[in-house]
Amino acid sequence: MNIVVLKFGGTSVADVPQIKKISYKIKSEVDEGNKVIVVVSAMSGVTNNLIELVNNTSELAPYSEYDVVLSSGEQVTAALLTIALNNLNIKGRSWLGWQVPIITENTYGKAVIEEIKTLNILESFKNNEVAIISGFQGISSENRITTLGRGGSDTSAVAIAAAFSAERCDIYTDVDGVYTTDPRIVKSAKKLESITYEEMLELASQGAKVLQTRSVALGMKYGVNLRVLSSFEDLPGTHILKEGSYMEKSEISGIAHSLNEAKVTLSGVPDKPGQAAQIFSALADLSINVDMIVQSSSINEGSTDITFTIPETDLKLAERTIKKTQEKIGFKKFISETNVVKISVVGNAMRTQSGVAKTMFETLAKNQINIHVISTSEIKISVLISSDYYELAMRSLHSAFGLDA
Ligand code: ASP
Ligand code: MG
Repeated sequence: MNIVVLKFGGTSVADVPQIKKISYKIKSEVDEGNKVIVVVSAMSGVTNNLIELVNNTSELAPYSEYDVVLSSGEQVTAALLTIALNNLNIKGRSWLGWQVPIITENTYGKAVIEEIKTLNILESFKNNEVAIISGFQGISSENRITTLGRGGSDTSAVAIAAAFSAERCDIYTDVDGVYTTDPRIVKSAKKLESITYEEMLELASQGAKVLQTRSVALGMKYGVNLRVLSSFEDLPGTHILKEGSYMEKSEISGIAHSLNEAKVTLSGVPDKPGQAAQIFSALADLSINVDMIVQSSSINEGSTDITFTIPETDLKLAERTIKKTQEKIGFKKFISETNVVKISVVGNAMRTQSGVAKTMFETLAKNQINIHVISTSEIKISVLISSDYYELAMRSLHSAFGLDA
């Protein structure tokens, strides 16, 4: 049985004409003899409006009720799309998360999927029905509606594709694929024909917003055959592949940037065991993600400086928490800076080729761009720089690595 999963994001179901338009795309998949599962987002802007309604009602709304409100957007699109398909004489029905069911943990607002039961939908395939599923939602073991976090319908689609062993999972969106970098910033950015899961994961978590990061991690885990495509134009899109099937020559596949960064330096930290553990466990307890970390080596004064980055949105909370530990840890100053951007160069080729760091640092130096912090992984080099220069940095790195179209 050829099962295909097609996911349509908010801009692809933005209004009724758009919904009618994608119903033809779905029809052509049905006509080819596929069993089709469609996963939809809310119409664009709807989820934001729903959040505003909740916030205007109370600043302290319980997450469980927040999820009931937020999940309603996807309910509307699933049914409208089903009606449009029925108009084309295609049999099908809408499914809410709990009807599938998509079972999640009892964490509201950002629930993790535990299991997807396939029986009901497989049964519906026997009647040649298309399954139109509301993305972004599930049901907890407490019998309550959950949502999967912003952008979560990507994760719904990939999880469903994995659960049904789908032949492919096509993510239709308002861009026609994954680009070497943000085309709004670097005009010469070009579309990648293919990219490996690992690279995509680095790009997604480094600020490229095409897919929710969780969905990429999930796709990698289950080897989902994933494509990102435009729902507006009939173009090939970008194929996300398992490592090993990657054939492109280019040394580097992309350059990502992240604006939501804050740099924190704790100066004069007494140099003794357990200090870093205390600082970072205080942040971990608040679920604050620490990203880049550097510690200067103490020469003879017996104290060091520890610098790290966190999301700018967590800075106030981090400052309050760390200052509470000042006496115990004995550092001198808490210094923070928010006028910083992280730029990452990502490429599988880093595993086998040297000189990527050299090219990156030389390019930044040539443009008089100062590097605050550096961090690396097997396939990524990230630098923290002043936000005054990030566009220049992205453009010059894009051409230095031969990515210009
Ligand atoms: N509607 C949800 C959001 O806007 C989920 C999604 O679109 O993926 O975050
Ligand atoms: Mg999205």
